[in-house]
Amino acid sequence: MKNTYLEVAVPVPLRRTFHYLPPPGVPLANCARGLRVEVSFGRQTLVGIILGQTHHSDLPADKIKAASSLLDSAPVMPETIFDLCLWAADYYHHPIGEVLHTALPVLLRQGESATRTYQKLMPIGADAQAVGRAPRQKALFEMLICQEGLRKSELRAQDFAPAVIKALIDKQLAQWQTFEDKTPEIQDLQIGQHLTPGHEQAEALARIKSEGTHLLFGVTGSGKTEVYLQAIARVLSAGKQALILVPEIGLTPQTIQRFQDRFKVGVVAMHSGLTDRERLLAFRQAAAGTAAVIIGTRSAIFTPLKNPGLIVIDEEHDASFKQQEGFRYSARDLAVMRGQKEHIAVILGSATPSLESYANAQSGKYAMLRLNERANAAQIAKYNVIGIEHQQLTEGFSPPLVKLMQQHLEQDHQVLVFLNRRGFAPVLHCRQCLWLSTCHRCDARMTFHLSDRSLVCHHCSTRQASPTQCPDCKSRELVPLGLGTQRLEAGLQALFPEEDILRIDRDSTRTKGALAEKIAAASSGQRGILLGTQLLAKGHHFPNVTLVAVIDLDSGFYSSDYHAIERTGQMLLQVGGRSGREKVQGTVAIQTLFPEQPMLRCLIDDGYEKFCEQLLVERQANQLPPFTYQAVIRAEAVTAGNAIRFLEEIAANTPHQPSVELLGPIPSAMEKRAGKFRAQLLASSDNRKRLHQTLSQAVIIADKSTLNRTVRWSVDVDPFDLF
Ligand code: ADP
Ligand code: ZN
Ligand code: ZN
Repeated sequence: MKNTYLEVAVPVPLRRTFHYLPPPGVPLANCARGLRVEVSFGRQTLVGIILGQTHHSDLPADKIKAASSLLDSAPVMPETIFDLCLWAADYYHHPIGEVLHTALPVLLRQGESATRTYQKLMPIGADAQAVGRAPRQKALFEMLICQEGLRKSELRAQDFAPAVIKALIDKQLAQWQTFEDKTPEIQDLQIGQHLTPGHEQAEALARIKSEGTHLLFGVTGSGKTEVYLQAIARVLSAGKQALILVPEIGLTPQTIQRFQDRFKVGVVAMHSGLTDRERLLAFRQAAAGTAAVIIGTRSAIFTPLKNPGLIVIDEEHDASFKQQEGFRYSARDLAVMRGQKEHIAVILGSATPSLESYANAQSGKYAMLRLNERANAAQIAKYNVIGIEHQQLTEGFSPPLVKLMQQHLEQDHQVLVFLNRRGFAPVLHCRQCLWLSTCHRCDARMTFHLSDRSLVCHHCSTRQASPTQCPDCKSRELVPLGLGTQRLEAGLQALFPEEDILRIDRDSTRTKGALAEKIAAASSGQRGILLGTQLLAKGHHFPNVTLVAVIDLDSGFYSSDYHAIERTGQMLLQVGGRSGREKVQGTVAIQTLFPEQPMLRCLIDDGYEKFCEQLLVERQANQLPPFTYQAVIRAEAVTAGNAIRFLEEIAANTPHQPSVELLGPIPSAMEKRAGKFRAQLLASSDNRKRLHQTLSQAVIIADKSTLNRTVRWSVDVDPFDLF
């Protein structure tokens, strides 16, 4: 008789599955696809997921081990999510074991029970003397008493060996007990009062079908959220659930509150403040259908829904939907795929849609829903370009801008100053010998931070005290060059000594809750100046901001990466959208050295849609996405030259496919970063299938390469940027 093996996906960075026999005493029939097994892998014990069964293995039968235990009686995720993971592993050329792990909450990855019961090892009695002298047993017994029992995952985390546990059980000092996790039952749904939709909102709502992808292209403040809320309400009334993804920094208490106000019960938010256990509970509630609305960031796209009805991606163009390391998936693209698999509607909302989504809506692949007017009759802001080629700047501010700010402040309004660079100055330099503060681990400058007089590398986080003398010529004439938000803050204090200044950037919001607190303060509307990076630019509703001042976006229009101009345009409109959201019309003032830059003019004179059209013409002419498909293979190595050599080997040995181009390898724009030398190989084609065939072959060659051990490498399909 032939042996049957379980094909198991194990969370290791290898693009293959592993064979195991069923755990001792467990019938093969019980080892179904989608169930977790605990397996020994090398010297580790890992939690794997059964992908299927097979009769064939390259290993001799006596080398195949049995799995140690079966952890589930039912699959940990529904078939559609399982399929989505398989598809994603394939599409992103990423190991399936790691993909499946990404899809699960941490505790399920660690082997915690997926159902609502769990086992705890409980102490019997409290007499520590009875344990005897064995130190580990004693430690375990004491911990069981003071923590009122420990779960399997906790025992594992504390490194208690099975023998220690067994010894306590044999001595009748401990026993396993089953507990039940309570997932709150859903109460009767109460849907709060909707706003009366405007005619554009009503039309958008009428056109949202029960299936298919919709692009909700609505200017900032046009009431996209109200459209989501009413579309969600429809789905809930039909007894189904809705999944909402928002950008990382969008998941503020205000956003959550807006959903809770409308839907009262059954709203579950998967924010970063949740403990692992709360996250598991949310996962279970979603899977059991007891949560009606689930709001989360990128990884929430894998949340199972018992009765899926709708997926909303708010600010679909946002960078945070694309994971930029490890498993480099796009939650937005997975949402579209998931919508197809589950036969439900997907709404992608944005005031500044990505070029891909815009092109898909123009071609009819997605339904295009437009909201051209602001919902509460607020007018769209007017743009005011301030050319600074011939201006004398005071700490970054030109005289016309200072005057404009004064006018708005005098009317008791708020002014928002935007600069997407934190710190005091991007570099410290020596006036005598022109020394520059560079990072020894990166090809990058170190940013000068005035508050603690330190130099910080924003790429590898290296921090050191700022020198008082030039390290090269010992001169004391060290001056900060360029602008960061801290420097602007100091400048604003000098220019506007009477005004309150609130700075919001990563440095000023490091402590827990600080961001929410500062955003709330900014929203209070009290006259003054708000100053910040993109943390301040997106999604927020600051009712009293009437002027947005953009200090320096010029570099975005002159980048070597073709993505940069699209992102810069989006950022400009998003931050501009913070102004004049209520009764008074807003102004957006843009300081620039290039007031006639054609794409800047196009954006503000003709609007975002013309800007997109123009960029699409250029992309088509240059055979760039979305007219072609791209992937980047990146490599980094401690030894200079290894990353390039590794990629050269891949480029040379990957069989050539018609219409697929392999460009490079070239050193990355920042070749050295955090002490590693980096390089990249770009694969590009107008034929998606052939591109993926090429990538599959490239990955096999990379896996076999002898340089493999000295480099770290990754595949990035549909890269968000080329750096
Ligand atoms: P967006 O998400 O498009 O930026 P919001 O949904 O935040 O816009 O709406 C902007 C403002 O308009 C909010 O204060 C919201 O309450 C209000 N609003 C939205 N829709 C309506 C409506 N139909 N009637 C009245 N006010 C509305
Ligand atoms: Zn010097
Ligand atoms: Zn560095």
